[in-house]
Amino acid sequence: MSNCIFCKIVAKQIPSSVVYEDDEFLAFKDIHPAAPVHFLIIPKQHVETLSDTSTEHMSMLGKMLALAPRLAKEQGCGLSRDADGQVSGGYKTLINTGPDGGQEVYHLHMHVIGGPQPWRGQR
Ligand code: AMP
Ligand code: ZN
Repeated sequence: MSNCIFCKIVAKQIPSSVVYEDDEFLAFKDIHPAAPVHFLIIPKQHVETLSDTSTEHMSMLGKMLALAPRLAKEQGCGLSRDADGQVSGGYKTLINTGPDGGQEVYHLHMHVIGGPQPWRGQR
């Protein structure tokens, strides 16, 4: 998609702070972070919204979801368990879909937002 900002980021026509890249996905820091850790995971393939996915996208969606905990840990907001099984840390995963879902960029992306209860912040 020639006028898609995230496709331009994938093509490196627009700079971004990349946290992960492979053949299928790119993850980069959100330009307006809502928390100490806030990055986006996107498929390199242009898919406008979650509602534009179908069974052919199941593998991609599964991999995108599975990337979240791995990258969250690398970025410092992974889930931890101590010897007693007490959990700490963590993050939100968020996919906004369509106008009523608050989607601003129409290239499928998953937010990973971490830090101490970041949803109590401005967002
Ligand atoms: P959404 O409302 O789910 O569509 O979120 C789009 C997100 O993309 C917002 O949190 C923006 O801050 C972020 N964003 C927009 N342009 C850029 C960019 N060039 N680099 C990084 N993040 C961006
Ligand atoms: Zn795109």
